[in-house]
Amino acid sequence: MSIAYLNGDYLPQDEARISPMDRGFLFGDGVYEVIPVYQGVPFRLEEHLQRLANSLAAIELDNPLSDDAWCELFERLIEKNGGGNLGIYLQVTRGTAPKRDHAFPSPAVPGTVFAFTSPVATPAADSPDTAEGAVAITLDDIRWSRCDIKSTALLANVMLKQQAIASGASEAILVRDGFATEGSASNFFIVEGGVVLTPPKSHLILPGVTRDLVVDLCHQHNVPIKETEVTEGQLKAAEEIWLSSSTRELVPVVTLNGHAVGDGHPGPLWKTMARHYVDFKRRLCGAS
Ligand code: PLP
Repeated sequence: MSIAYLNGDYLPQDEARISPMDRGFLFGDGVYEVIPVYQGVPFRLEEHLQRLANSLAAIELDNPLSDDAWCELFERLIEKNGGGNLGIYLQVTRGTAPKRDHAFPSPAVPGTVFAFTSPVATPAADSPDTAEGAVAITLDDIRWSRCDIKSTALLANVMLKQQAIASGASEAILVRDGFATEGSASNFFIVEGGVVLTPPKSHLILPGVTRDLVVDLCHQHNVPIKETEVTEGQLKAAEEIWLSSSTRELVPVVTLNGHAVGDGHPGPLWKTMARHYVDFKRRLCGAS
């Protein structure tokens, strides 16, 4: 039985209850994080807590816990859920107001803090020689223009992901004004002429913790990388395409819009970076 955290209590997940007047439920008025845990150790915790703080500040919601209190919460949640490899989901909403009103409640009410863990699948990067790779399609980026906030209001992402699934793909790479932005639940990289390209951080993409790590690893290992806009045309002509996210780490895309990417198999530079990623993970968490 999974144990969740809700507003100070640890309890079986299916016993956790919030009010239907919670602004997270009524408006999607909240932010969230997903933090991978390897061998019981949270991965890139500082970076996730910093992004949480940024998202909360962007929606003018006080951080309900100090970083130390967050760390203690995660430690207890991991222990209560048996440790090992997990994903921690946490969300903070603007709480339960007495009436439904778009404006922030005044005076402010306590935020709702909810966290739970789920098992994570073994990522492709763990087995670079046998990984099959993902199928993706391109879709119009129909989202708002504050995609840098990790908001729980994910309706556009949900619809885009579902459109990808319905077409037999597992991810949609989104295109706005002729430029590829990110995946519906991931950032992306391409390889062009042996150089790795990924869009720069802006209001139009989530500043992915995995994206930043892959950029750092490229620099550390002298793999040429540029943070620069990527046109839809460059995406479609790329030698390799990779997706990054905390739960899937680094995944090669082998088919885009029904066409093979490169030779239709995970590319050589992806294999190199997957090995660097897994080495880094092992050094940090002793992960297997
Ligand atoms: N972009 C979007 C829209 C996402 O939903 C996610 C993760 O869920 C990412 C990028 C990747 O972010 P991270 O690497 O921090 O998990």
